[in-house]
Amino acid sequence: METDYTNFNLITTELSENLKQAREYMKKTKPRAYKKLMSFLAKQRKDIFPRVSLLDWGYGFECNFNCKHCGTSCLSGHNLNQTVPKRMPMDVVKRVADEADELGYFIISFIGGEPLIWSELDELVKTVDPSRFYITVLTNGWYLTKKRAEHLKDIGVNKVGISIDSGIPKEHDAFRNKHGAFKRAMNAVHNALNAGLRIHISTTITHQNLKSEGVRKLLELSNKLNVSIDLQCATVAGHWQGNYGVLINEEDANYILELRKKYPLIRRDVFPTPGGTGGCPALTGSVFLTSSGEVIPCLFIHISLGNVYRDSFKTILDRGSLIPKLRENSKKCLAGEDMKFIKKYLSRTFEQKNLPLSFEEGFRIIENKRLK
Ligand code: SF4
Repeated sequence: METDYTNFNLITTELSENLKQAREYMKKTKPRAYKKLMSFLAKQRKDIFPRVSLLDWGYGFECNFNCKHCGTSCLSGHNLNQTVPKRMPMDVVKRVADEADELGYFIISFIGGEPLIWSELDELVKTVDPSRFYITVLTNGWYLTKKRAEHLKDIGVNKVGISIDSGIPKEHDAFRNKHGAFKRAMNAVHNALNAGLRIHISTTITHQNLKSEGVRKLLELSNKLNVSIDLQCATVAGHWQGNYGVLINEEDANYILELRKKYPLIRRDVFPTPGGTGGCPALTGSVFLTSSGEVIPCLFIHISLGNVYRDSFKTILDRGSLIPKLRENSKKCLAGEDMKFIKKYLSRTFEQKNLPLSFEEGFRIIENKRLK
């Protein structure tokens, strides 16, 4: 059965309220970020490009876990640019953040690996300047002690996303290959909330686990704590490269829509936000910046659109817009649901040792005059 994507405008009242609270906070404390958000929504409604919202920043990919579904560990090489330093110097971080700000990005999300093991995290947050971006950190929670949560709040972090894959401790620990991971993640949830940080729970959904008891328990937790839960559908990238069996199908996507009646704080990337139209945000909203400066359309699409050491953000976005699928703001997750996109492009990344692929290798398009 075809998923009724026309109903995607049915953002639940509860999720809408939840997101509006964050916006009110942004309006009061970060007027510049709020102004960029409003401009983004207006552009999204009119389909004006380029429009930008979220910069996912993979500053480093080292991690204290070895999760079954990790999508970034395969990006830790310096395939396309061997000459750049292992860590992006702060003057380059500043230049990239300035450019991102000018283009209109209003959220920076630090993603690893595990950001809480980066010794430079404080300096990074300070350098990008929290007065102009809403700052989030995506963590497995292991190191998010009470003290650390309070510290993050003090330095200007607004929100943490805590990755939890099952509400059954043993299952989560097995998925994460780390005994005690669930307990520490739950402590992290409470430490973050007590420190006054906003949180969301981030959960990977496969065809196999969607209807499981472990996921049901997490959904109950979202209701109980009144925090949103991001259901990230599995993709064939990273550790699941080429594993089509984990992908959700149309029926699963419909089931998630139905689940919102009971668990209204469910979010997916493709769902709309208040005042917006929704759709896959890869390129037409967010991009992912790797530790070596490559910009890829999404954490799970391992094909480069350019490199910030070499190209301006504007050039990178223009190059991305040459790919119609990226430009169309698909109602399906390109990396996890759109089989045409997966087979045509993502399959080229399978069994490649060094990722991301270059733009030409991955999309097989030679830049045309538009980029001159
Ligand atoms: S392809 Fe789009 S919807 Fe899927 S994970 Fe990436 S940004 Fe999100």
